[in-house]
Amino acid sequence: MITVDPDTCCLCGLCVGVCPPEALDLAPHELKVLPNCTNCGWCVPYCPVGALSGGRRPKGH
Ligand code: SF4
Ligand code: SF4
Repeated sequence: MITVDPDTCCLCGLCVGVCPPEALDLAPHELKVLPNCTNCGWCVPYCPVGALSGGRRPKGH
């Protein structure tokens, strides 16, 4: 699973809409990564503040 830095995350919700299996859940005061996260890494570059880390990065295709 990917990691969310709760001190950096501003709860903007941008990442929630890009996750293919909908594994990100924007709770009122916390972004949760759900167990169905496939660690694909797709959401990581979408975070404007760099709060997401880990994941297998897409390799250009
Ligand atoms: S790593 Fe992939 S599956 Fe996991 S939260 Fe990000 S986009 Fe969703
Ligand atoms: S895109 Fe980044 S700052 Fe916005 S909710 Fe997701 S992890 Fe938090």
